[in-house]
This record gives sequence, C-alpha cells and structure tokens, in this order.
Amino acid sequence: MSKRDYYEVLGVSRDASAEEIKKAYRAMARKHHPDANREDPNAADKFKEVAEAYAVLSDTNRRAQYDRFGHAGQNGQGFDFGDFDFRNAGFDVGGFGDLFEMFFGGGGRTRHSPERGQDQRYNMELEFNEAVFGVEKVIRIPRSENCEECNGSGAAPGTSPVTCPQCQGQGQISYAQSTPFGRIVQTRTCDRCRGQGRIIEKPCPECRGAGRVRRVRDVTVKVPAGVDNDFRLRLVGEGEPGTRGGPPGDLYVYISVRAHDVFQREGNNIIMDLPITFVQAALGDEVEVPTLEGKASFKVPEGTQTDTVFRMRGRGVPYLNGRGRGDQMVRVNVVTPTKLNEQQKELLRAFDQATKGKKVAGIERGKKEEKGFLGKVKKVKDQIIG
Ligand SMILES: [Zn+2]
Ligand SMILES: [Zn+2]
Repeated sequence: MSKRDYYEVLGVSRDASAEEIKKAYRAMARKHHPDANREDPNAADKFKEVAEAYAVLSDTNRRAQYDRFGHAGQNGQGFDFGDFDFRNAGFDVGGFGDLFEMFFGGGGRTRHSPERGQDQRYNMELEFNEAVFGVEKVIRIPRSENCEECNGSGAAPGTSPVTCPQCQGQGQISYAQSTPFGRIVQTRTCDRCRGQGRIIEKPCPECRGAGRVRRVRDVTVKVPAGVDNDFRLRLVGEGEPGTRGGPPGDLYVYISVRAHDVFQREGNNIIMDLPITFVQAALGDEVEVPTLEGKASFKVPEGTQTDTVFRMRGRGVPYLNGRGRGDQMVRVNVVTPTKLNEQQKELLRAFDQATKGKKVAGIERGKKEEKGFLGKVKKVKDQIIG
C-alpha cells in the first residue's frame, strides 16, 4: 500500500508553519475520529494516517528528514503500522503515543470503555413483626437516569459532543520536561473538557449537558421472613445505571428493626418476661401470654420458681431458609406483693406458722452473667401449647 503524502493528508502546504500543522491536525483528527465516525469502516485507517502524518510533521527533525527523503526517510523508525505496538513505541512527547493508546483502549485507560454503575444504599427500618414475618415495601430511590431528551449524550437534540480540540479527546495533556536525567513526560487533566475528552458545544436544555437526570423511582423490596438487624438485602441491577453501555450497579437495603414492647429477639428465638404472683407460682394457674400471632393460653405449673424459663416450641421467628421457626421463651418472674393490708399480713403470718421448719422454697439464684439470655438459663421447661 503506497502511502499518501503527509502534507496532503493534513491538507497543508509544504511550507506550513508548526502552528498551521497543529491546527490542521486538530481539525482532521476531529473529523476522522473513530468515535465520531462509527458508520465509516475506514475511519480508523484515516485517523491513523492523520496521526502518523502529524507525528512526523510536528517533529522538526523528522519533518526535515521527510522533506529530504520522503517516506523512505521514515523507514526503521516504527512507522510501519502493520504489527506495530503503539503503546510501547516510546514516543516521549505529544499526542502520538497517547493518541493511539486512547484509540486502542490500551494502557489501562478506561475513559471510553463501558463502566458499571454505582451501588446504592438504602436504610430500611422495620417493625418487629415485619422483620419476623417478612414484608413487601415500596421504597423511593433517587437515581440518575439517562436523559431521554439527548439519549444521555448531554448535547442538545440534533447535535452531538465533539472531541475536545485541546487534548484531542485524550482527556489529558502530556508535556515533556528536560531534566538532568533526561526528558520526563508528565500529564495533567485537560482543563477544557475536564478529562472527559469531549466537549458539548450546545448543551441539552433538559439535563444542562450532564446527560443524566435525577429521578425518584419506586422500587418494590420483598423482605423475607426472619431478617434481623444488620441484615443486608441486595437487589441486583437496581443501582445507578452504567455508562457507555456498562451494567447497572446494585441496590443494597440495610435493615434495622424497631424494638418490641414485649419481646426481645435472640437469633430465631423470642424472649418475654411473665410476671406472676407468688400465689400463682405456688398453686399453679392458667394465664394468657402474648405470642407473635396473638394471645395463647399458658399453664403455670404448681410450684414454679422465679426465673424458670418455659419454651413454646415453634412460636419464634421463621428461619430465613423457610424451614421451621425458632421458639418463644417465657421467663417467669414471681412478684413479691407490696402494700399488703393488715388482713393479708395476718394470713401470711398464719401461713408462715403452718410451715415452720419445713422447706417451702429452696430458691437458688444463679449469678447473672452477661452472655446472652439462654446462656444464663439453667433449665428450660417445655410448655405444650394446645
Ligand atoms: Zn439531556
Ligand atoms: Zn480536553
């Protein structure tokens, strides 16, 4: 394939100044940039050609060599584009190496590649029973969405963003500095396009050029039965939308559960205190206790000691895997009566006389250790609820 004349490629005369070459190159690079010519299969080749011409003509030495020897003078300098690896070509200055790096998407630059959307977090507070039995809630999530007016481009309808002329779409400006150690190439973010590589000449009026709009969206969250504090639900794909065709992020719903008036929760068990009189404790009684599903009858056996724990099987919190439930633990508190009248006191004294010398209640109070409710309990009695 015979190469076109570099001056011809850039459309400048042979005595064009460096400034004219630069200007022509910018115009041509913009015109042939593959991003702006998605339909043209030859755009990439034209773009390469332009870049190659500029790489040579913008370099005083190479330009002089080219002027004397033509394309032959460039042989052996890495301008055979066949299998050439541009990224390691070692061009130390200017847009050439970077241009191709950008163009081929190499070198770890991701500005033009698809990006996954951000994850979002939502804090959800549940009532005790909602956490126990599960609930479906519609939550309102503010989220960015592609602007429909401009299809996310940010450019006014009928126009499109153009490659930034200051950085030729790289988003960065490279410049070389001579130091005692040699030339050092440094880069800074392009201030014209703020690193985006493109500029919008006429912003979309709907999104003011952002390409995105904030919208409040309704998301239905199905909270499974059995969740607890610090539980986290992940809703795949319900986060922020991706850019350039990337997948959306996820939505994380962080659960917190309000305290219950009667029940405390320990894993899948629920615990409650049941105050009874010492007469009920001594003689036994049938009382009503609250459960997660309303009231249930509870039998206090004769001679019940304070702090005795009864287990009501299967009355606790469902397991998240849907198999079975925890238990309801009922801890009995025998309440010592206060404000007795004289008649009551007399009866108790008589009772005391009648039981002198006999052991009525051998109450052993265990040390209260703070290691969770069940850790403190010595014996648990089962209570079968009819
Ligand atoms: Zn818009
Ligand atoms: Zn720029």
